[in-house]
Amino acid sequence: MNWFSGKAALRYPVPPAPRTAVLVPFLRPAGRVRVFPDGWGAESRAFQPSALAADWRQLRALLGQEIPSLTHAIIVLAPGPDELLSECQRRDLWRAFRVPVFEQIVAENGTLLAAECEAHEGLHVESSKLEAGLQPAAGFQPAPHGLALEPCGCGRSTPRLKLLHRDREQHVLRHFDNVPLRPR
Ligand SMILES: [Zn+2]
Repeated sequence: MNWFSGKAALRYPVPPAPRTAVLVPFLRPAGRVRVFPDGWGAESRAFQPSALAADWRQLRALLGQEIPSLTHAIIVLAPGPDELLSECQRRDLWRAFRVPVFEQIVAENGTLLAAECEAHEGLHVESSKLEAGLQPAAGFQPAPHGLALEPCGCGRSTPRLKLLHRDREQHVLRHFDNVPLRPR
């Protein structure tokens, strides 16, 4: 049996995927997307990826490195809504690599639960499993994310996870009558 059997492939944010190096072991390779289960190293560098998919811990370790082949995108893979990037972390990635950042929430078997689109206005919820865990809380609880229900700039109108940290975002969420999420 193959080591990647049963796993899902990376869903590239804006297909078709260019040469992409996946640095986590829970996705399988497909097309020009290759998986490097041991993370970044000589092998993945030699592959000369135009895009990288990795978790924040791995990307943080790469912030000081030059990756000249990286021209398309960074896909940040988070295990849950509580692990999504802060504005600061996104800024660090942009300063280091100067390519668009797309966040995704991916389950342990590689199933995509939520994904940021090219409009960069939150993460579209892709799985009812995730949505079920995001129902509004009964009492007031400060939650870092909310569900945005208004149509997205990309043309889809599925619910999206959005950051509630910034004033602008809070205003947007209130304006569209969005619901706060129950903290984990
Ligand atoms: Zn969208």
